[in-house]
Amino acid sequence: MHKIEHIAIAVKSLSTSVPLFEKILGTPCYKTEEVESEKVKTAFFKTGENKIELLEGMDPEGVIAKFISKKGEGLHHIALGVENLEERITALKTEGFEFISEVPKKGADNKIIVFLHPKCTNGVLVELCQEIN
Ligand code: ZN
Repeated sequence: MHKIEHIAIAVKSLSTSVPLFEKILGTPCYKTEEVESEKVKTAFFKTGENKIELLEGMDPEGVIAKFISKKGEGLHHIALGVENLEERITALKTEGFEFISEVPKKGADNKIIVFLHPKCTNGVLVELCQEIN
């Protein structure tokens, strides 16, 4: 069993959406972070055991900007926290799952991450993430 570590929402503007989600969630944003490799700015909210992550693209050609121009703002991915990322990648590959990239990347919030390909997951982008010790 893997807990939902965070749910990520693509937004056009953190400066608009951070105050909005502070009102909705009733909790202040506790961290913002730029992830250079992904060209995104992130903002985090604690929601009990889980987090909500807002994503704003820094690059008009980047994945978040492209996602928003295609689908509009909204749910971008669900992230599952795992203990051993390499082991999960190998196990899921054995089951026939495909990844957007099998090589873990440094994500926001002190994590290494990979994404399962949405064609294997009923169209939902699923991230697997492991805390960096
Ligand atoms: Zn994520």
